[in-house]
Amino acid sequence: MENLKAKARQRKKCIEDLQRKSHFSIPEIEHLLKIHRKKATSHGKTDKPKMERQKFSDLLHEEFKMTDDVLIDRVFRAFDIDADGYLSEEEWVRGISIFLKGTMEEQIKYAFSVYDQNSDGFISREEMFQFLKNCLVNQQTEEDPDEGVKDLIEIVIKKGDYDHDSKISLKDYEKTVGEDYLLLEMLGPCLPSRKYANKFLHSMECNTKK
Ligand code: CA
Repeated sequence: MENLKAKARQRKKCIEDLQRKSHFSIPEIEHLLKIHRKKATSHGKTDKPKMERQKFSDLLHEEFKMTDDVLIDRVFRAFDIDADGYLSEEEWVRGISIFLKGTMEEQIKYAFSVYDQNSDGFISREEMFQFLKNCLVNQQTEEDPDEGVKDLIEIVIKKGDYDHDSKISLKDYEKTVGEDYLLLEMLGPCLPSRKYANKFLHSMECNTKK
């Protein structure tokens, strides 16, 4: 009995902690943890539930209609703070908080970490190439598609490289997005569209009112 009470106290503390670290209310966090539990696997009795990459990517696909595998993989990595290949409860709640309700500052840092593939603090030409080539892949054109991508990269660099080192630092990126918010997702969609974000938030609201 005492044991159970201690566990409940610990759980309550953990949820309150997540409330401080996210933009969600306690009932919303409980609902998000339920989703996490449904998607998660736990290995052994004492292990905390963890969400696997594939389950997360299915969820992005189902709930937010995101389909670009390169970007989905990067979104997973941006959520997976400790880089162990799984999303813990905390990583899930904090990630989805930025994803759905993040401040501009949070979303700029998040999108930058999505695009900065090797986490060296810069978005390089090679990294831009990886993302932008997907955008052009389906275009029917006589021209070499790589040439089209290179042109796009020049536009991005021209627009965003304030210190002229041919790559984009977080500072460059903050400045670029600060001037034009539409450039937040300049290398491809890494945040949900308003429509699907609202749908998800609305269903969460309905589920937590009961
Ligand atoms: Ca993790």
